[in-house]
Amino acid sequence: MAAIEEVEGLSEVIGRAIQEHLERSNINIAWPQIDNLVRPILRIEAFLEDAGPGSDLSPRSERVASRTVELTDIMTPGPSRSPTAPHQVHEIASPSFETQSHSSDSNEEIADISDSRRKGTSGLRISQHQTIQEDHSEHQRQMQVDTRNFPKRKKVMSEKFVFQPSTLDKLIIGIWEQIHGSIHLDPKAIFDQFQIAPLESSDIAHHPAAETTTLDLLSTNVDKTPDSFSQMNVFCRKVTQASRVCRSIEMIVQARWIELFEEQIQIRTAAVADLSATKHRKAVFMEACQDFGWSEKELRNKMAIWRGYKEVKDAAGWASLVFAGMGIYRFCKYRVGFDKDAMRRLRNLRKRLEVAADTLHPHWRQLLAIVGEHATVQYSGHPHEWVVFEDGKDPIPLRQTYLDHNRFFAFEHIDESIIDESAWGCEDPRWMPQPNTIARVDGRYICASCGEQQSDDPKLNACFCFPSLFGYVKRKPPPIQVFRTPDGKNNGLVALTSFDRGMAIGELVGLITKGVSGRDVMDISTPLANYQVWQERIGNYTRFANHSCKPNAQSSTFTWLDTQRVVIVSKGIEAGAEITLDYGDKYWAGLDKACLCGESCCRYRTRDR
Ligand SMILES: [Zn+2]
Ligand SMILES: [Zn+2]
Repeated sequence: MAAIEEVEGLSEVIGRAIQEHLERSNINIAWPQIDNLVRPILRIEAFLEDAGPGSDLSPRSERVASRTVELTDIMTPGPSRSPTAPHQVHEIASPSFETQSHSSDSNEEIADISDSRRKGTSGLRISQHQTIQEDHSEHQRQMQVDTRNFPKRKKVMSEKFVFQPSTLDKLIIGIWEQIHGSIHLDPKAIFDQFQIAPLESSDIAHHPAAETTTLDLLSTNVDKTPDSFSQMNVFCRKVTQASRVCRSIEMIVQARWIELFEEQIQIRTAAVADLSATKHRKAVFMEACQDFGWSEKELRNKMAIWRGYKEVKDAAGWASLVFAGMGIYRFCKYRVGFDKDAMRRLRNLRKRLEVAADTLHPHWRQLLAIVGEHATVQYSGHPHEWVVFEDGKDPIPLRQTYLDHNRFFAFEHIDESIIDESAWGCEDPRWMPQPNTIARVDGRYICASCGEQQSDDPKLNACFCFPSLFGYVKRKPPPIQVFRTPDGKNNGLVALTSFDRGMAIGELVGLITKGVSGRDVMDISTPLANYQVWQERIGNYTRFANHSCKPNAQSSTFTWLDTQRVVIVSKGIEAGAEITLDYGDKYWAGLDKACLCGESCCRYRTRDR
């Protein structure tokens, strides 16, 4: 047997793991001497050793992995070299920040601090131009101003071992991103939409007025008119869409093929029992090689990955394959962290993935017909109409979670607030006249935060303060699920992907009304009017955000096209964390219950009444 040097993929895995870790850490601080090196690299070599009794004497094995990691690109510029917001960097390095950390795991601690230090330079995006307008009027729920500029980032619970590359986390986040992305996973994408007309030069000569074909558009000789650009956009979208659907089909077919391969061995072993299962396996394998026209090595390598797809599918269901991002190939090829714990996490996600896939892509299950699976939608309606469980239990309709308190519970999911005409008539109390109306030319709307023009027309809009909410976008349900909290807070919101500090989580929408009292309603005011946003019967997911005394999101007002909006803004939220707000003292003053946030700084833990 030759030396087991360079076990396939091991160097790659170690290299990536270390690189990813170093990118998150600030290696300049860990190794001050690094600045003296011209082209710093890190060499890693791995050997097999015996750790058993008397192992001191046993020789080391052959090298099993060797890899160098370039450090030049990973090095973090020092705070003084940071191009943006130097004062923020200064604040994050201040002692008050560091003393907040009391974790027992020192490794995680270092990573966490340096992580925040690096990311801290971005700050709340909108506040780079101007501080967020806080509303200081009386609320039943108050909007909270946080005086600390840099709240400590939440830790991802699964990253216990600091050197483990988080490929499972990336796989999971990749799936959530695809499900909430704009690609329609619908077989129609290939069968109906994708048509390329073959280009025949003679046709063009005979019909000079004929429509430009897509292949014309791809060549560089055609006039680049705005019209052709728009056609090219459509063509490129269709190709991308079709190719994405093909990739999903590829993975589900390959996972199914593995199942059929195993089945075939069982059938043949049962039929011809005097031949061993191993021999049958070999025979089936060789037959497949022949049909594929591939060498044994080629098929074996592919099968290793396909087997991974099958295992992921067995745990997290078909949706996990159909919506998997690029990360699934790496996860299945190198199998880093591909263990029982990973499979348990994937199993717990199964129903949650199906809720999101069914509600956001009602046709996705049609792809499963290709592998002979049922195409019936399990979860219909709005994605936030379902309350999911983190331990993998069956999701339940939202209504069901309120029936104990209110038999007549009903909630309508809306994207934009509705004005209560009985309270306001045709008037919108959210109207915010611009401070210097004279400066406004031709009825243009200027953003009070960034100073740029706001418009629902993409050609005119230049304000990107909250691009997922305002501008020409059609609002889509964000990567957030309503979940049943395990700690008695009833429903809550869980972030499926991370929300960087300053990103909008959503607009607080509901019935714009006035005069409601004794209910959970938010009081807001403009210089001209006091109004309320009431979310009891209509609204969106923001209604289900729980209170925390140490929240990771805050509500702020933002004016879009002269209309005041309440936006929930992230203070830095990791994937998998619960999204929380500070409801404020006025909310708690009227309540006869204790806060369950569990933070050491909790202000309402006990109620003395
Ligand atoms: Zn703006
Ligand atoms: Zn609390």
